Amino acid sequence: MVRVAFPGRPKVFDYLVPSGSDDREIDLGVAVKVPLRARTVFGYVVDRRAIDGGESEVPSGAPDASQLRCVLGVDHSRPRLPAELVALLNFAAGYYATSLGDMLRAMLPPAVRDSAPRYRLVPGADVGPSGQQVLFDGRDGELRERLLGALGRARVGADVATLARRVGAERRAVATLLRQFLKAGLAVQGVAVPVNTQVNGKAVVAQDDELPVLSPDQLAVVDAAGASMSKGQFGAFLLEGVTGSGKTEVYMRLIERALVAGRTALVLVPEIALTPQLSGRFEARFGDRVATFHSGLTAAQRSAQWRRVYDGEVQIGVGARSAVFLPLRDPGVLVVDEEHEGCFKQDESPRYNARDLAVFRARQNGAVVVLGTATPSMESYQNANTRRYSRLSLPNRISGRPLPKVELVPMADCDVVGEGLLSEPLASAIEGSLDRGEQVILLLNRRGFAPYVFCRDCGDPFKCAECAVALTLHRGADELLCHYCGHSEPVPRQCAECKTDNIGNLGVGTERLSEELSLLFGGAAVARFDRDTVRRRDELERGLKRFRRGETQILVGTQMVAKGHDFPRVSTVGVLSADSSLNLPDFRAAEKTFQLLTQVAGRAGRGDIPGRVFVQVYERGHFAVECAAEHDVARFMRQELENRRELFYPPFARLWLFRLEGEDEPAARAAALSLAKRLREWAGEREGVWILGPAPAPLKRLRRFFRFQVLVKAKNRDVLHGLLAVCQMEHGAGVRQILDVDPVSML
Ligand code: ADP
Ligand code: ZN
Repeated sequence: MVRVAFPGRPKVFDYLVPSGSDDREIDLGVAVKVPLRARTVFGYVVDRRAIDGGESEVPSGAPDASQLRCVLGVDHSRPRLPAELVALLNFAAGYYATSLGDMLRAMLPPAVRDSAPRYRLVPGADVGPSGQQVLFDGRDGELRERLLGALGRARVGADVATLARRVGAERRAVATLLRQFLKAGLAVQGVAVPVNTQVNGKAVVAQDDELPVLSPDQLAVVDAAGASMSKGQFGAFLLEGVTGSGKTEVYMRLIERALVAGRTALVLVPEIALTPQLSGRFEARFGDRVATFHSGLTAAQRSAQWRRVYDGEVQIGVGARSAVFLPLRDPGVLVVDEEHEGCFKQDESPRYNARDLAVFRARQNGAVVVLGTATPSMESYQNANTRRYSRLSLPNRISGRPLPKVELVPMADCDVVGEGLLSEPLASAIEGSLDRGEQVILLLNRRGFAPYVFCRDCGDPFKCAECAVALTLHRGADELLCHYCGHSEPVPRQCAECKTDNIGNLGVGTERLSEELSLLFGGAAVARFDRDTVRRRDELERGLKRFRRGETQILVGTQMVAKGHDFPRVSTVGVLSADSSLNLPDFRAAEKTFQLLTQVAGRAGRGDIPGRVFVQVYERGHFAVECAAEHDVARFMRQELENRRELFYPPFARLWLFRLEGEDEPAARAAALSLAKRLREWAGEREGVWILGPAPAPLKRLRRFFRFQVLVKAKNRDVLHGLLAVCQMEHGAGVRQILDVDPVSML
């Protein structure tokens, strides 16, 4: 009996393996065709033992072998998942309390998970259903002619590139033909290459003399992690390295070692669209052994890249969150760069954390996982304190360049210039930099012109009709925009309530700041970087290039400007409203503020000219801001760990966040109440579990849905085992229950 999961479907079903079929063929990770109700669908074998209580097609529930239906056969058009990925799938679905089908969907590339298989035929390259086998070597002319001939008979025509768009019967005919051809081709020509036996003949290592000589610190790090890797031993390393300390070089050396040992490597980066420089460095060093996954890829390109990884054509995968599922064989090193970033956690189903799954994958593969950052997450930091991770550090910048001097500027007792957005000290530093032909980066983590638009007579702010948030004024686009649901409307000319046209706006976003800068520093070219001006990777790259070439002198933007960029001519960095994020209703507010400030400060003084950083604050004396200014990670960590321990939050507690959402507020509230009640009954007899709530979510209404939360805190994960059965509840119509394990966003 095998258990089969279907991409995107919540339920798994059990099937019998028909007698006579090759038992080894229908094995873990194999795609199979199975009957489901009246249809034939494909799914993946996720388990092979008989398990009690599984869903079967038989309504009675318990799988009674005599009533189970049979697997129809192997789906040869889809790749077999390696056993390691099947284990990852099972672990991830269990850990994040989500369905195997949802997790499977996240794991598979578009071409594989789409229910209708697509056929891709690239002239001159490998031909194959986007699936299991390479049909023929593209250099074999005769075989290619025969295939085209076969396709021609199905009246598909020689224009095979359009194949994928053809539908229905025709596609099925092509499928049959391809399959027949595959069989014949295999037997006759013997050129069909089973997956993963392709050998890449190229030299694995770059020439030593082209590479920088590692600093003693770098060498120590590479040796420590490398030693663990060469023993085939699992090792998790937290690499604490200030910005510009040479972490990326360390990653590349470890990857090199993995390749030399015949293994592969995975690099996870926060948002790859924002870090073209970083992925560019991997491509420059490792050339066509790298597959880069960025958001600019089409579904077809993504699938093709996935395929290259699967086939072993490339040995290094670089990508954001979802790359953690790449079918790399025998990874030796897994790198998570900027491990503290929240975006490794997916904030829609399935809500997995790619950083944590990377650690799991490393353990399974006897690999090392390197979590690199200048500002560790509290979780990883504490894991290093308790020796679950080994701590490695790069305390100094390369070539001993000092970290920039950071000055806190309390706006309350400081002269300001112009409209009052910039303090006098920051403004004169900007002027000085511009006079010397140097450059400036300004961070303001808020896009648009002004975050509040209101009627001056009645004082009402304009709000999104579907969310409980104020609309942001975007003056260039002449609209009000909801930053949560994307709703936009024309800028109102009068107040709907009192009909006056006395409309005002309040606060400042990047759009307004860049206008102000153009006014104050007339001669300078200002570039704005936020989601309104930079929508695509190539726009970002072009903008960064212009800045690098000195065509723009001031870069203004949201956190986009804080990430990983390396501009040697930047001598002034300014942060506006540095402490505004401290007031968010989120226990990670201090941590996130500290990280962002440290990141952006690291953009200054990367080259030969010293850098200065000005942090404008409205409140005085918050330790997160002060520690960031003093580059004192250890003090921040000590203090924040103390706070977390006191309030019993991660890393000292495990969190499960339930959210109940419904368009009908009373129904959503009632559902939250009954869930909380049931959880309390369950928690009553247990040690070390606390139930908080229900309470309205900080964002209490979003996209028309009213949102309520119930938070489960537990001392350790084991306590939570029984929880899953308890929380499976039926709620009234229109209410949905969402469970977020290890939540990152508490809003
Ligand atoms: P990080 O990833 O920690 O920010 P990088 O790896 O980007 O640091 O290194 C910062 C700069 O120093 C880069 O320009 C990089 O090429 C350079 N670099 C790194 N290691 C060395 C080294 N051992 N010798 C000389 N330059 C180096
Ligand atoms: Zn909205």
